[in-house]
Amino acid sequence: LEMLKNDFEIKPVLFKTFIEPLKVYDEDDDKVTILLDDDVYQHYDSYIKEKFYTFIKNSIEAVTGKSYSLDFISKEELESYDTEKNENNQLIERAASANLNPNYTFDTFVVGPNNDFIAAAAKAVAKDPNTDWNPLFIYGGVGLGKTHLMHSIAHSILENQKDARVLYVTSEQFTNEVIESIKEGVLASTKLRKKYRNIDALLIDDIQFVIGKERTEEEFFHTFNDLYQAGKRIIISSDRPPKDFTNIEDRIKSRFGNGMMAEINPPDYETRMAILKKRCELEHEHLSDEILDYIATNVNSNIRELEGAYKKVTALNKLVNVNTEATLDIAKNALKDIINPNVKNVITIDSIIDVVASHYELSIDQICSANRSSNVAYPRQIAMYLCKQLTPASLKEIAAKLGKKDHSTILHGIKKIEEDLEAEKKANKNDLSNKLDVITKLISS
Ligand code: ADP
Ligand code: MG
Repeated sequence: LEMLKNDFEIKPVLFKTFIEPLKVYDEDDDKVTILLDDDVYQHYDSYIKEKFYTFIKNSIEAVTGKSYSLDFISKEELESYDTEKNENNQLIERAASANLNPNYTFDTFVVGPNNDFIAAAAKAVAKDPNTDWNPLFIYGGVGLGKTHLMHSIAHSILENQKDARVLYVTSEQFTNEVIESIKEGVLASTKLRKKYRNIDALLIDDIQFVIGKERTEEEFFHTFNDLYQAGKRIIISSDRPPKDFTNIEDRIKSRFGNGMMAEINPPDYETRMAILKKRCELEHEHLSDEILDYIATNVNSNIRELEGAYKKVTALNKLVNVNTEATLDIAKNALKDIINPNVKNVITIDSIIDVVASHYELSIDQICSANRSSNVAYPRQIAMYLCKQLTPASLKEIAAKLGKKDHSTILHGIKKIEEDLEAEKKANKNDLSNKLDVITKLISS
C-alpha cells in the first residue's frame, strides 16, 4: 500500500484518509482480504471499492508479482469470515483424507446430452442416500468423466453433511489393501474390514479391475452388502456394464442389479466446446473461438484427449509468445502430433496411384500405361487392389483413372492380388501383405 503514496494520481490527503487505514487481513492463493476501518467502512465503503480497487490490486501485483483478487470486509464481518474460513479449511482436510481431487467438483463438470442423465443421478445420490439412485453404477469408456463425477459426488456429500465419512478408492488401491492385509494376517484383515464398513459413502473407481480377483472380489462383496444393508451410499464406476463382465460371480452381478445403472457417453461438438470454454475460464486462459473450434472439431475421442490438446496449445503458446494470444497456427503446430488432418482427407484413386508409383520407382504414366511387363503390371495390379480396398470408387471409375477401357481388367487385377495373398497365407508368409501395409500407411499419412 505504501506504493500508492507515490502514485501521482492519488492525492496525499486521500491516501491518508482512505488507504492508510486499510489492513491486509488475510491472503490465500488468489485472494487478498482487506480489513476496512470502521469509520471508513461506514461512510466510504463503496467509494473505496470503486475508486481504489484497481490501484490497490495493481500495486499488490507490482510488489508480489502475482495477481490477486480483492475482498473487503468490515470488523463486524470478521467473526463470520473466520468461521467460514475455518469450515473451509476443514472441508479441504476432509476432502484430502477422502482421497479427493479438489478440482473435480460439480461446479467444474460440464453437463451435456451425453451425461445429463447420469449427472442428475449423481446429484440425487449426493443429496440423499435414500434414493432410487443408490447404489449407483456408472459406466462408460475411458476419459469420459467417470472419475470426475465420482469425486464431485464425494465433495458434495462432505459439504452437505458435516459429519459424513466418505472414502474414494481406486480398484487398484482397494486390491492392494486386500493383498497387504492377507499378507499381514487376521488383525490387518479385521482392521481393513472396519475401515470400509465404518463409512457413510464408499466410491470405488474402475471396478473392472477387481472382477476376477477372487479374494478382492470377495472382500468387495461383503463390504458392499454391509454398506448396502446399512443404507449407506455406494457408488461404483466401470468401463462396461455388469452384463458384459464374463468371469464375475452371479451373486455380485445380482448385487449390482440392486442399484441404478447409468451410462456416460462421449460428448458432442457443443459439449466439447463448452468443456474447453469452462477450462479457459477456470484457468484464465484466452483462446479464440477459432482455436477452440479447431480443437473441438478435431479431437473428438474423449475428454481426456480434449484436455491434452488444450494443454498442449496453452503450453506451446506460453513458450513461443509469452504475452500475446495464441494463433490458430500455433494451435495447429502444437496439435500436429495429435490431430492428423489426413485422417479427414478422403483417400483418392490419384493419391493411391501416386504412392504406388513412387514406391516402385515408376512414373504415374507408366502405372497408367498399357505396358505389360511384370515390373509395371504388378504394381498396377496392387494399385487396383488398393483402390478397391481404400476407396468407395466403382470398378469403372478405377478403370478410367488407370487408362483401361474395360473394368474386367481391374477385376482381374484385384483377383490376382487376392489370390497371391491367399497363397502367401497358406505358405505362412507375409511379404506381400507387409508390403501392402507399408503402402497403405504411406497413402494415409
Ligand atoms: P474417466 O474416469 O471416465 O476415464 P475422467 O473423469 O478422468 O474420465 O475425465 C478425464 C478428464 O476430463 C478429467 O480431467 C476431467 O476433469 C475431464 N472431464 C471429464 N468430463 C468432464 C465434464 N463433463 N466437464 C468438464 N471436464 C470433464
Ligand atoms: Mg477414471
